[in-house]
Amino acid sequence: MEYVASFDIGTTGIKGCLVSRDGEMSNMVYEPIHTYEGENGEVEQSPDDWWNGVRGIFQQWKDRNTSLTKGIKAITFSGQMEDVIPVTAEGSPVRRAILYSDGRAVKQAEAIREHFAPWRNSIVNSITGTTPLAKIAWMMEKETNLYNMTSKFLFSSKDYIIYKLTGRAVADPTTSATTAMMNIHTRDWEEEWMRFNGIDLSRVPSLVAPEGRSGMVMEELAASLGLDRDVAVFCGVGDAGATTIGAGNIREGSMYAYLGTTGWVATTSADSASEAPFTLSHLAEDRLISIAPVLNAGNVHQWAVETYTDDVSDEGYKAFDEMVDGADPGSKGVLFLPYLHGERSPVQDPDAKGAYIGITGSVERRDMARAVMEGLSFSIRQLFEDVSTSKVEWITLIGGGSKSKAWCQVIADVLQVRVHVPRLGEYLPSFGAASTAFVGLRWCEDYEAFVEDYLNHYVNVYHPNESVQGVYDKQYGQFKKIYEQVRKIDG
Ligand code: ADP
Repeated sequence: MEYVASFDIGTTGIKGCLVSRDGEMSNMVYEPIHTYEGENGEVEQSPDDWWNGVRGIFQQWKDRNTSLTKGIKAITFSGQMEDVIPVTAEGSPVRRAILYSDGRAVKQAEAIREHFAPWRNSIVNSITGTTPLAKIAWMMEKETNLYNMTSKFLFSSKDYIIYKLTGRAVADPTTSATTAMMNIHTRDWEEEWMRFNGIDLSRVPSLVAPEGRSGMVMEELAASLGLDRDVAVFCGVGDAGATTIGAGNIREGSMYAYLGTTGWVATTSADSASEAPFTLSHLAEDRLISIAPVLNAGNVHQWAVETYTDDVSDEGYKAFDEMVDGADPGSKGVLFLPYLHGERSPVQDPDAKGAYIGITGSVERRDMARAVMEGLSFSIRQLFEDVSTSKVEWITLIGGGSKSKAWCQVIADVLQVRVHVPRLGEYLPSFGAASTAFVGLRWCEDYEAFVEDYLNHYVNVYHPNESVQGVYDKQYGQFKKIYEQVRKIDG
């Protein structure tokens, strides 16, 4: 059997799987990764841990059956984006990787922003303390010796693994769109802007398309991993890109929401006309991904499950779903503002809070429970309206939250669109990443064909109930007014 080995180098761990030519995913293996957190917002991981994790996964496949590793024709990846991974010319890490969520470079970002205006149209995304350009500036200032030792700055965990496997430093356009150094329209490094910020082009990786070959696995390494000679290593794609293609999102105007602990709403577009806070390069060269991140998603769902059932096991989630289904749409007029963890979009307020509004004597526990899921869904509707550039008839939901049938139905009813839930679950980014090798190997013609042939299989489809549209449209109007009012009271 011929396989593509696909790795998702995520924050909590590495997921590896083998995808056969007929699109079957097998031999899923997970290796956890340790994160180092400092007192001043530092979030770091050791690139050697990633490498050991990937080697460990190859070893497990080899131990199961050498025909598995011998069957691997290509290797590809999805990985964290917005990391800064400084490496020497020999490929060793200069220091631990500074992760995407590490916000230590706030001051450097402020200084860079002062000169950003002429470049905004090409870079598109804003510069914050988590942006790689600002993190490099932080290193330049605070760790000058280590900065000088650095031969290349890599920006995704996967790119470190590619460097180890092939000796080549590469970056994909989706990841690079988050660095504040790439022109998102031409997919080239913005050399003059980089030079203005003291960064020479020789210190960043070559930009390679996701389906482009980064190189071959080095000969001695191939033998130790149990691989044949001439195994191609593809560039792969940053996790938001892999998830987008995994969600089947390839056509212009198509939309999906990722309902994880936190989440995002995204659409594929041909230009950056959307109001979304982030714009990334799509795997397909002529397209962009517009993304609105949301801090309150599955975490609020989980809070409600715990609060109303005292049980966050699968049974608790099921009992909560039954409670939500048992209440009438509109929850007897109760509205819930879901900003329990501050919010990034549709409002940008780290101090935002949640609220219940409109409780009467007839309200029962199940109404309170349902109002939470309706509030989360109103918030998602707001994001969809911000992000979308055209009317959609259906959306895809992915992530752990899409396991809640009650939530999926509420979303279908509140948005009045069909909801599709695909089959792949937590390995969806690895499967999405596999598309890059399928296209690169010519196992399929292009990304559209990959989605068509392997991804349009849904576990569940939820149809909107038209009879509740009036109730929800009215409540949605009310919902949009709550935040400003609560903010005034909260000071
Ligand atoms: P992460 O972003 O951390 O990878 P996941 O995709 O695993 O998140 O999603 C976590 C969310 O999935 C939880 O916050 C909860 O909303 C939802 N969830 C977890 N288990 C269940 C379950 N058994 N039934 C329904 N929803 C669940």
